[in-house]
Amino acid sequence: MTDTAVSYDPDNIFAKILRGEIPCNKVFENEHALAFHDINPQAPVHVLVIPKGEYVSPEDFTARASDAEIAGFMRAVGETARQLGLTANGYRLLANHGPDSRQEVAHLHVHITGGRDLGRLLEPEA
Ligand code: AMP
Repeated sequence: MTDTAVSYDPDNIFAKILRGEIPCNKVFENEHALAFHDINPQAPVHVLVIPKGEYVSPEDFTARASDAEIAGFMRAVGETARQLGLTANGYRLLANHGPDSRQEVAHLHVHITGGRDLGRLLEPEA
C-alpha cells in the first residue's frame, strides 16, 4: 500500500459516479475504466477517464493496480480519444495530483482535451 492509498475517500464524486449514485455523460467504458464528459469543460472537447479501482494518483495506481487494470485504463484513454474524433488534429492528456496541481477530485483521472489549438502547456515562469 502506498501513502496516498490510505487517503482515498470512497465518497469522492467520481466514486459516486462509478457506483451509479450520480449520473455522468458517458463516452466509453471497459472492464477497468470509465470515460465521461467533464461537467465544466475547458475546451470544445473535455473528457475525463478514470480507473474503476480506488486510486488517488498515478503513483498510487502504478504501485497497486494489476497489469490488467493499467492496460485497461490506458486502452480506454486511447479508445476514448479515437471515439471523440481527436486523432487527426491531436489532443492533450493531463493528470493532476496534489495541491501544487490543484487537484479537485482525489480519484485518479486523466483529462482529454481537444477540439481547438490548446496553446502551450503551462504559463511561463513569472
Ligand atoms: P482536477 O482538478 O484534475 O481534480 O479535475 C477535476 C475535474 O472534475 C474538473 O475538471 C471538474 O470540472 C470535473 N468534475 C467535477 N465533478 C464532476 C461531475 N459530477 N461530472 C463530471 N465532471 C466533474
